[in-house]
Amino acid sequence: MRLTIAGTGYVGLVAGVCFAHVGHQVTCVDIDEKKVAMLNKGISPIYETDLEEFLQEGLQKGLLSFTTDYQSAYRDPDVIFIGVGTPELPDGSANLSYVASVARQIAESVERDCLVVVKSTVPVGTNDKVEQFIKDSLVHPVRIEVASNPEFLAQGTAVHDMMHAQRIVIGIEDKHSETVLRELYAPFNLPIVAVSRRSAEMTKYASNDFLALKISYMNDLANLCELVGANIEDVALGMSYDGRIGSRFLKAGIGYGGSCFPKDTKALQYLAAQYGYNLRTVTAAVDVNNEQRYKLYRKAANRMITFNGIKVAVLGLAFKAGTDDLRESPAIYNIPLLLEQGAEITAFDPVAEENCKRQYQFSMQYVQTVEDALRGAQVCFIFTDWQEIRDVEPSAFKSLMRTALVYDGRNLFDSRAMLEAGVEYYSIGR
Ligand code: NAD
Repeated sequence: MRLTIAGTGYVGLVAGVCFAHVGHQVTCVDIDEKKVAMLNKGISPIYETDLEEFLQEGLQKGLLSFTTDYQSAYRDPDVIFIGVGTPELPDGSANLSYVASVARQIAESVERDCLVVVKSTVPVGTNDKVEQFIKDSLVHPVRIEVASNPEFLAQGTAVHDMMHAQRIVIGIEDKHSETVLRELYAPFNLPIVAVSRRSAEMTKYASNDFLALKISYMNDLANLCELVGANIEDVALGMSYDGRIGSRFLKAGIGYGGSCFPKDTKALQYLAAQYGYNLRTVTAAVDVNNEQRYKLYRKAANRMITFNGIKVAVLGLAFKAGTDDLRESPAIYNIPLLLEQGAEITAFDPVAEENCKRQYQFSMQYVQTVEDALRGAQVCFIFTDWQEIRDVEPSAFKSLMRTALVYDGRNLFDSRAMLEAGVEYYSIGR
């Protein structure tokens, strides 16, 4: 099939390379000229395992191309995917201006009957509006159908998640859209859940917000475990054997970040409020997370007389391992607090350093190894669960740091091993 994908971010680009990988002819459109030029050279602007390999394969086979020329890209494909961002507005609602602008560009350009598929995460009812808007604005008399196909990939494992998704949810209002989407996804051989458009839109928020809730629940419990002398990891282990609970997403830590859980929880709260409904469970998840991200900073601030002139090692900048994305990362919330207090920070992250330098003007030193960050430090904060950090021997904290004082937001180390190595070690819920 001939596909055009609007947006080459985490979702659009991964979808583009994966659809090309299974043999579809894919054109990806972005408004960012620099990104498009990089992509046409086979260089991925984001870090994801296998992404660059798939990108180069698609380019070499002639199945994948990138352009800013939306008019030709939207003129006559079989399917157009909308995968642009829907970031949070100050009031918590989803900013739909990027989706609207793609809808306008499609209406201006499309010259052949076409299925438009909304992959971006959008509030319930948006697909209806996109359809109406395109139909009202069409320049050429063609038949447009709109379907919802929310994306469930996780950053850090995005290509794998797209190729081996646990399910494909499609929201359709007509048989033809369903047939086209089933054919499009047939090479992936994955379970397809076909529902109404509104249910598909809601399924995306329902899934993300449930995961956020699960994390906040474990973090809330972890805080209580600390008070009552239980260990959250033992508790999680005991819970995990219950098939009704499941074993994933039971890890306590410094709170969720990234571009999705924070904005999708707020967007659903906003949607509920529009209908006069208070979604209390999701509100609780958001409240717990807002506090959790500062938990270690607060603990350290209670333990230390000052951060002024103190050498702080920050291990991990990305919001999770496997990505260079800094959006809503706990590190990005805590670094300014430490700097304001006069801390002298040395930071390590295996892939997010460039993004951090570009997006933030933090006056801190960046180093290429964990050891270099630890050398001479008086306190260490661990914000990301990178393997490179996990691999450090407890004894290295003791031998390299001036004061072996570690605040671990990811529970990467065994508390006893750290204690035996002579490290004053604080983690979450243990
Ligand atoms: P992103 O911010 O990484 O990328 C969006 C891209 O769209 C940018 O490259 C931008 O230049 C481009 N763009 C903006 N306007 C455009 C236009 N008119 N035409 C073409 N391109 C345009 O976003 P993302 O993280 O890929 O997220 C996209 C959507 O998918 C969001 O709704 C998000 O909630 C959802 N989602 C994201 C993830 C994730 O892990 N990042 C997972 C599932 C769903």
